[in-house]
Amino acid sequence: MRAEILAVGTELLMGQIANTNAQYLSERLAELGINVYYHGVVGDNLDRIVAYLEQAKKRSDIVLITGGLGPTEDDLTKNALAHFLKKNLVVDEEILKAIEEYFHRRKLRMTPNNRRQAEILEGAVVFPNKTGLAAGMGIMEGGIHYLLFPGPPSEMIPMFRDYGIPYLRRIHPESSSLYSRVLRFFGIGESALVTELGDLIGGQTDPTLAPYAKEAEVTLRLTTRAKSREEADGRLDPIQQEILKRVGSYYYGEGEDHSIEKVLFQALLDRGATLATAESCTGGRIGELITTLSGASKVYKGGVVAYTNEAKENLLNIPTDLLRTEGAVSAACALEMADQVRRRLKADYGLSVTGVAGPDAQEEKPVGLVYVGFSGEDRRESMEFVFAGSREGIQLRAAKTAMFQLWKRIKER
Ligand code: ATP
Repeated sequence: MRAEILAVGTELLMGQIANTNAQYLSERLAELGINVYYHGVVGDNLDRIVAYLEQAKKRSDIVLITGGLGPTEDDLTKNALAHFLKKNLVVDEEILKAIEEYFHRRKLRMTPNNRRQAEILEGAVVFPNKTGLAAGMGIMEGGIHYLLFPGPPSEMIPMFRDYGIPYLRRIHPESSSLYSRVLRFFGIGESALVTELGDLIGGQTDPTLAPYAKEAEVTLRLTTRAKSREEADGRLDPIQQEILKRVGSYYYGEGEDHSIEKVLFQALLDRGATLATAESCTGGRIGELITTLSGASKVYKGGVVAYTNEAKENLLNIPTDLLRTEGAVSAACALEMADQVRRRLKADYGLSVTGVAGPDAQEEKPVGLVYVGFSGEDRRESMEFVFAGSREGIQLRAAKTAMFQLWKRIKER
């Protein structure tokens, strides 16, 4: 079946809001195995909505429409569809009752235009709105299904989940759906990953492999169409194995909301180990990332943001001599910072970052030069990196690199 999504709203055309409804619906339709071939946006204008529907009718079996179901004069979606399908709008007594109750409970006066929200297209299946007033609906005419949902995502999403999906399952019972998994890599750029996996990415139609770079990381989405999770796994497992054979050293986990801070947190938790951080150029970014996780206090003792040399001397006891001879941006300083913070906070691991986030060079050292220091009971080490990008980009990359490298070391034990 071919579907398309029409979003109605002048705000969308003006760029005041982004069309997140279309994104959400496209994802769900893909999961249902329904192909989406077009996205459209039309302002609050009856003639243009009707003109759009004329086009949609020629090319789609399902037309999902969001927005313009409200009570005001510029909410025209229902009128446009009624006009287009030559149907009447009739008041649905149950919806009307629900709206009246809504106003009664809130001791608000119901205005006549609220009655309009109880109107549905004659013959339509009603989708009740549990989080708002405007009801949605589904109607079939000329072999084409038209589904209407309200604009606010807080209303559209629950309505689609509760009524839209069952409606679509009924008209599209083929049970093959899209299954995907997201593999996460760190420390390898998107182009390097694509080069390593070129033959796999290029040659595949099912499963498909789609790389995506975001926030200093690269993810690879593996997708296949299957009738069950088991069937999908049977197809995704071998390709994942092949991928990890080639770029496994950069791989840290799987899942849409997985993150480096989560794997580090888990590795520390599994070993009953604790962490303390000493940050210079990252300004507390590591601490911030770790503490977004609930239960962080089980593994994270705390950290010191020692930004200036003065702070490094006073808070971490970094010798003045070392700062003078080696500089604050040096392997020796990173090591000392990690050692000091580990001892002061009585943690199992100390992790430090010192570097030049830019845009100006410092101590005659280039922008992007970063040292990461590790300190453990029986092992201390520092690593040098050179990152490119904006100040913020370098800071984020430095913070995540430090966590990723510590995770790799802890994992080896
Ligand atoms: P209401 O019942 O609130 O009147 P409606 O169905 O009339 O809803 P609109 O008036 O078109 O919807 O939009 C209401 C709000 O919903 C917009 O201001 C916007 O915040 C949000 N919205 C509308 N369409 C979209 C969309 N396609 N993507 C994301 N948000 C949207």
